[in-house]
Amino acid sequence: SDFIVGLTGGIGSGKTQVSDRFAAKGIAVIDTDLLAREVVAKGTAGLAAIVDKLGPEILQPDGELDRAKLRTRIFSDESLRQWLNALTHPLIREQMVLQCAQAQSPYAVLVVPLLVESALHSQMDRILVVDVPESVQIARTCQRDSNDEALVRSILKRQASRQQRLAIADDVIDNSGTLAQLDQQLDRLHQSYLRQAEDRHV
Ligand code: ATP
Repeated sequence: SDFIVGLTGGIGSGKTQVSDRFAAKGIAVIDTDLLAREVVAKGTAGLAAIVDKLGPEILQPDGELDRAKLRTRIFSDESLRQWLNALTHPLIREQMVLQCAQAQSPYAVLVVPLLVESALHSQMDRILVVDVPESVQIARTCQRDSNDEALVRSILKRQASRQQRLAIADDVIDNSGTLAQLDQQLDRLHQSYLRQAEDRHV
């Protein structure tokens, strides 16, 4: 595909519900959270660089990256966090471009939870924001993960605001209603993206 829809939204806004629906229509869905894991999986150059820097203590007994340990190290070391981003971000971007190019569907959906916070949004053809009021984000996330409300609120506070996301949106899905209402909005968007992707080729 050479028509890329960037899909974003805050925690618990419904990104997974939305991307599952695109996938059910045969649209390639590429998830940057998954890519971020793949570029430091066992056997990659990414993981080798991390072991070089932090020593084999950063591995689990099975040779996979010990993410909990890495999170703890990063939490107390800002320069290490920057080093890790400088290592992984280009690798993620490379995979992103590759997988979008290989996608066989008329357009591709790239899920980027932190799209506003990243420099990637300039590379999308359309930006689709899943929007719900914060109260709905909190209620649905708590219900899904049986997390307490304070934790969800603290994650929310670290993410871009609803206004910041809407400011970069080309298209907005209002997911404050029922899943049936979500289906309807999705059908319309799918038709519109098919048309736009086709127009590009005439
Ligand atoms: P995260 O950022 O935490 O990964 P997400 O943006 O992918 O979350 P989902 O997991 O799709 O969000 O949705 C959050 C929860 O709310 C899920 O349990 C989902 O089933 C539920 N949900 C999403 N949309 C609706 C809706 N319109 N009506 C009822 N429940 C919904």
